[in-house]
Parts: sequence; C-alpha cells; structure tokens
Amino acid sequence: MHTNCILVTGAAGYIGSHTCIELLEAGYHIISLDNLSNSHSIALQKVQEITGKTFPIIEGDIRDKELLDQLFNNYKIDAVMHFAGLKAVGESVENPLIYYDNNVKGTIELLQAMQRHHVKKLVFSSSATVYGIPKEVPIDETHPLNAINPYGQTKLIIERMLQDIAQADTESRIALLRYFNPIGAHESGKIGENPSGTPNNLMPYITQVAVGKRQELSIFGDDYETVDGTGIRDYIHVVDLAKGHVKALEYLSDYKGIEAFNLGTGKGHTVLELIQTFEKVTGKKIPYKITNRRPGDSAICYANTTKAQQTLHWKAQFNIDKMCQDSWHFQTNNPNGYE
Ligand code: NAD
Ligand code: UDP
Repeated sequence: MHTNCILVTGAAGYIGSHTCIELLEAGYHIISLDNLSNSHSIALQKVQEITGKTFPIIEGDIRDKELLDQLFNNYKIDAVMHFAGLKAVGESVENPLIYYDNNVKGTIELLQAMQRHHVKKLVFSSSATVYGIPKEVPIDETHPLNAINPYGQTKLIIERMLQDIAQADTESRIALLRYFNPIGAHESGKIGENPSGTPNNLMPYITQVAVGKRQELSIFGDDYETVDGTGIRDYIHVVDLAKGHVKALEYLSDYKGIEAFNLGTGKGHTVLELIQTFEKVTGKKIPYKITNRRPGDSAICYANTTKAQQTLHWKAQFNIDKMCQDSWHFQTNNPNGYE
C-alpha cells in the first residue's frame, strides 16, 4: 500500500473503535491492530458498516516484534494512535505485573518498532488518573502528576518515557491525551462500551441495571463535600473524545515536540445527577443503594479544557442528556454486548 496511513492499536476497543470512525470520516486510511483481549472483532465490522469503508484488520499483540515489523514494512505508516492497554484499576492492584507487561512493555515494543521504521508521530491514550487525587479543580495540564494505583503508574511511566524520547529525538511529534470520563456511544447504536464481566465504571453499570442484567447500582459514598454528597466527574461523550484525536493528529502535522492535553468537557456532574439525567431521558428507573466509598476515589475531578480549545481548536459538543441517550441506545440494541 502506498497511501499514508495511521496504525491504530487497540482499535476494536471502546474508544479506539469510535476514533476509527472519525479518522475514516476525516479521510484518513487506517490499519487496525488489536489482540481482542478486551474486545470483539464485530466492533470493527460495525465500523466498516457505519462508514462504508474497509481497512486491514490485524489480530495481534503490540508485544509481537515480528508482527510490528511486518506491519511497518508492508504499510506506509505515517502515525500511530495508541489505545491498546489494560484499564481495570482493581485488576491492576491485584496483578500489577500483567499491567506493567501489557501497558509498559507493550508500549516499549511499539516505540522501538516506530524507531526502527522512522515513524515519529504518536497520539497516546493517557488518562486524568495521572493527576492522582486532584489538589485543585478544574485541573489543568500543569497540575502535579501522581499515580495512586498500578494502572495509573503505567500511564505515568509511559508519559515520562515519551517525554524522554521527545528530548532525545527532536523530530518526535507526540500528543498525550488525558481523557476524563468517556461515556455514550455512536449515534447509530451499533458500537459502544461493551465491558466483559461486571462493569467497573458507572455508566455501563447503570445501563446494565436499566436493561435488567443487574439488580441495583451501588453508589460509592454520599458523604463527599459535593452538592449531594456523591462524587463529581467530568463525563465526556466518546464521539467528542474521538474527534479530539483527529484534531490532535492534525496538530502534530505542524508541530514537533510533545504536548499533553486534557480531553474533558470542563463540567462536573455528581453520580446522582447522572442517574437522574439517565432516568429522565430513558424513562427507566435505576434502583440504587448507598455503600462505602471506593478506596482511591477522589471527591471531585473535572478538567480545565482551555489548552485543548486554544491549541487543538477542539471543544466537546454533547451534554450529559445526549451521553445518557446514546449509552442507552447502544445497550438496548445490544442487550448482551456484541455476542
Ligand atoms: P478497551 O479495553 O475497550 O480498549 C483497549 C483495546 O486494546 C482492547 O480492544 C484490547 O483488546 C486491546 N489491547 C489490550 N492490550 C493489547 C495488546 N497487548 N496488544 C493489542 N491490543 C491490546 O478500553 P478503552 O476504554 O477503549 O481505552 C482505550 C485506551 O484509553 C486505554 O489505553 C485506556 O487505558 C485509555 N483510557 C480509557 C479510559 C476510559 O474510561 N475508558 C479513560 C482514560 C484512559
Ligand atoms: N461509581 C459508583 N458506583 C459504581 C461505579 C462508580 O458510585 O458502580 C462512582 C465512583 O465512585 C465515581 C463515579 O461513579 O465517583 C465515576 O466512577 P468511574 O469508575 O466510572 O470513573 P473514575 O472513578 O475512574 O473516574
């Protein structure tokens, strides 16, 4: 293939699949790479259906050096969007080595392959978790960094590695995208968040209660210093988040160096506000009970989004009503996930 293309690792996952759509719709050619450890290849078929475009779907691991060399030899890869990684905080506490191996070692393999093949452009999926427990809100990109669990450590280590690489190679073009709380789904209802087992995150838990798969939601604490006592987060529609990646890629075509960007809406909502909004837009009642705080949770976390607005010319468009509607649309279309 002689056309420039983007290698998307973790393309079959929740955020990767939505970003593939935005990349294809913006006219980019892509190659998807995923080991399907936390996803289903159906998601990529749906991406092709939605966009009417096809692309190579490679089932494989970012730690597979030979496979990476093959891909960089066979395709003219201009940039890498790196979503592949494990993301369950609790699992990372129980099994840290799996996280260091998959996330850190996997990224090192990928970066070494990029170096061997002279690919300089990278968009990396970081997370607001690198800020640790926020010292102040809204959080801007200069907030001190501090990981409070092994998953967060892997993101922080990778960020620091990338800073060093950008120092060593002044031709590097790297965007660190620090996501806040992605929820929602593509408007078609064909792709969305499809966690295996018990959801760790709030929105998939809510939709599974609403569809009857789980009895009730546990709210982790109602004694925080917030308007109703429940935790505040910056929920962002996954399609807005995906569009932010396209903007970051465009930015890197004229920028050498490394920059971190918060991708959030800049607005915080409590757990109870999200539940009430979900009930309002779907007409579904969400039974819940209040339980203890979840260890490691912060009370309030939301982004200052000025840098992304000014530098990437990107701003989230969708409100939490739309996020709830689209999450529910995907759940009702796929009550048992993609299977
Ligand atoms: P996801 O699990 O849906 O997607 C990750 C994808 O990577 C999966 O399809 C999985 O099969 C694949 N993968 C994992 N290890 C791999 C490997 N070694 N080789 C090839 N493929 C591999 O998760 P997501 O929510 O789409 O998250 C994407 C990225 O964004 C992750 O790096 C995650 O840490 C980060 N992130 C997610 C959130 C969130 O709330 N969803 C927030 C902040 C950051
Ligand atoms: N939360 C909850 N019940 C759940 C899952 C999450 O009350 O079953 C709360 C959690 O304490 C936090 C918010 O919902 O205040 C968002 O949690 P999530 O795990 O989705 O994101 P994160 O904590 O990683 O920002």
